[in-house]
Amino acid sequence: GKITIAIDGFSSTGKSTIAKQLSKALNYIYVDTGAMYRAVALYALNYDLVDDVKLKTDDLVNALSKVNIKFVPNNQTGKSDMFLNGKNVEQEIRTMRVSRQVSKIATIKEVREKLVAIQQKMGTEKGIVMDGRDIGTVVFPDAELKIFMTASPEARANRRYKELLDRGDKVTFDEVLKNVQERDYIDSNRKESPLKKADGAIEIDNSDMGLKEQLERIHNYALR
Ligand code: C5P
Repeated sequence: GKITIAIDGFSSTGKSTIAKQLSKALNYIYVDTGAMYRAVALYALNYDLVDDVKLKTDDLVNALSKVNIKFVPNNQTGKSDMFLNGKNVEQEIRTMRVSRQVSKIATIKEVREKLVAIQQKMGTEKGIVMDGRDIGTVVFPDAELKIFMTASPEARANRRYKELLDRGDKVTFDEVLKNVQERDYIDSNRKESPLKKADGAIEIDNSDMGLKEQLERIHNYALR
């Protein structure tokens, strides 16, 4: 029968690429929880609730009920686009501007509570692949399959850098590497559901592993 698959790990380990392809192969639903945190971060940026010096936590928490996020399937890409208050923000949430702020926003307890509740609702039916940082530990601790993805910071920054260049974002490799390391640090050390390997998770280091091999391995685990 269908199961719940939780994929967690550090930034830019290729979680979403794997999760997307896996969900296609299994005919499962795919949910990118990072997109949800990114949408909240974009909201905070748009309403001046965050700047480089200070995060206006109370104001953001008070505004949370006005943050309306949803995934809308896109027939052209075959994926889902993130909508924030009725606007397609799929491209905008991937920019460095958002990446620089998102992990700070993700430390806020109320933000996590809101998003975790939505995620758990999306997963009430089996047949879902969800990727993030706390899926196997908090969102679906009873998931039948949990994967924890890692790779060297350089390998990860390199992937991210190429992605951003392809999109026309003007960044340097060093800036991307710094951002990846910064997010890992904040994600691993925050008080609320820090990023860590969940009990029973299978760890995969893909620094030197191709997409096909990873997919095969995880697909086999899913069928067991
Ligand atoms: O997955 P992605 O890199 O797009 O996530 C962006 C950020 O959102 C992460 O660096 C992390 O701070 C936060 N996040 C989280 N919990 C999740 C998913 C993402 O804290 N489940």
